[in-house]
Amino acid sequence: MVSRVIPVDPFDLVVIGATGDLAQRKILPGLYRRHLAGQMPPEARILGAARSDLTEAAFRAMVADALAAHVDAAKQHPAEIAAFLKRIGYVAIDVSGAAGWGALKAALRPDVVRAFYFSVAPGLFGELAERLHEHGLATPQTRIVVEKPFGRDLASARALNATLAAHFAEHQIYRIDHYLGKETVQNLMAVRFANILFEPLWNAQYIDHVQITVAEAVGVGGRGAYYDKSGAMRDMVQNHMLQLLCLIAMEPPWHFDPDAVRDEKLKVIRALQPVPAPDIVRGQYVARDPAPGGAGYLHDAGNPASRTESYIALKVHVANWRWTGTPFYLRTGKRLRARTSEIAITFKEPPHSIFDDARGWRENVLVIRLQPNEGINLKVMIKEPGPGGMRLVQVPLDMSFATALGEDGTDIPDAYERLIMDVIRGNQTLFMRGDEVEAAWAWTDPIIAAWEARGDRPQPYDAGSSGPEDALMLMHRDGRRWREIRE
Ligand code: NAP
Repeated sequence: MVSRVIPVDPFDLVVIGATGDLAQRKILPGLYRRHLAGQMPPEARILGAARSDLTEAAFRAMVADALAAHVDAAKQHPAEIAAFLKRIGYVAIDVSGAAGWGALKAALRPDVVRAFYFSVAPGLFGELAERLHEHGLATPQTRIVVEKPFGRDLASARALNATLAAHFAEHQIYRIDHYLGKETVQNLMAVRFANILFEPLWNAQYIDHVQITVAEAVGVGGRGAYYDKSGAMRDMVQNHMLQLLCLIAMEPPWHFDPDAVRDEKLKVIRALQPVPAPDIVRGQYVARDPAPGGAGYLHDAGNPASRTESYIALKVHVANWRWTGTPFYLRTGKRLRARTSEIAITFKEPPHSIFDDARGWRENVLVIRLQPNEGINLKVMIKEPGPGGMRLVQVPLDMSFATALGEDGTDIPDAYERLIMDVIRGNQTLFMRGDEVEAAWAWTDPIIAAWEARGDRPQPYDAGSSGPEDALMLMHRDGRRWREIRE
């Protein structure tokens, strides 16, 4: 099945921070792939902006290098790369300075969609919105894309929302969470709301528990100093993992419409219960006998006294009619056994067994894999083939999206490119609304404040393992266990 590509309207997209890591690794290669897919009209233009004093030719050469490094070899067509580079310009500006804004304004067209991608340090987001306004670049048709992190607590998120709101209407603000751009994450909504099959069972009566895992094999590496000020709770749980939880737990929106979807997600966040200390496990990776792959967290963070968690597991309750009695177990960490992200929904066992299978019952599990190998897998019980009586065995009904939807498995757009096209189309469904972000911080803040007040230290766990021992106990004591972390 080949996916349909619907071209977007002509646009001017200004990537501010265009020489940085995110722009070079994700945004610009993603835009090239959309160009290659035929989604960009001939009039679409991309302007890079940063402080570096570069000529347009020098910036284009930089983009060419980024494409060479970050686009699949099979998609590197010289003629298409040349055509893509022709769309690209560059203006030197300093968000905190006065130079360059006139040139930027002159380079923009008044009659096309205009979007500014804030790919600069989070400390510059508010100032950048002010500059765009001050220099007359924030027209009513303008959209801004704001990267993460959106604040580091409720107070800073509120302050940033207020600054942005002074210059842009909410419908112009696209707070990006790239997890929401993943094919499987959107498929969560399709599976739930486009099929009759699951929704009647989608509640505490039939679902035993939900596990959400985002495991990384790499450590904090070169980002250690930055990460140490944040930790897994702020970096992953407050945003990405809560968004995943919302898509599983939310009520059906009345329509697939940005505000209808976001209203329902907001209700879930507001229904989250405070998490008591015994339901939280924090960890820090340690590397014994110089483990392959690097040093321990304290070394990577450059802070021998750090109490920041590189791993967290939590048991979370959503207090509403649908979910009371069904815990959501979340875990995320660095330097774990493998890189994998998945949501596993474990159904309850049938109320009565008619089979004399000594091995007992095993539950149905619906696994939604985000990476690697995006897809959906439903574990069902069948009869073990062959003679010898009625023995049961669990088998997967497996759908890999790459095989099912792509010609060669590489046609699934990356989350960033999909989301940028949504910005151009003016569709905010997969972006976080200001009140959602604030509600997420309002739940997160007291959890962090409580462990800080107690002076808790994260538990050490071996690099390359599945995380701290106590995280296993978090499930064990409820008579459940984590799924194995593996690719
Ligand atoms: P980065 O590599 O440090 O790049 C920052 C960019 O901002 C550079 O192009 C830099 O270029 C420019 N810049 C810095 N100060 C500026 C100023 N005063 N005026 C104009 N431009 C300025 O950072 P990054 O990793 O790309 O991250 C960018 C944003 O994305 C951050 O908010 C980050 O939290 C977020 N993010 C990044 C990733 C990732 O994978 N990298 C993932 C999620 C979110 P000059 O020095 O030439 O000005």
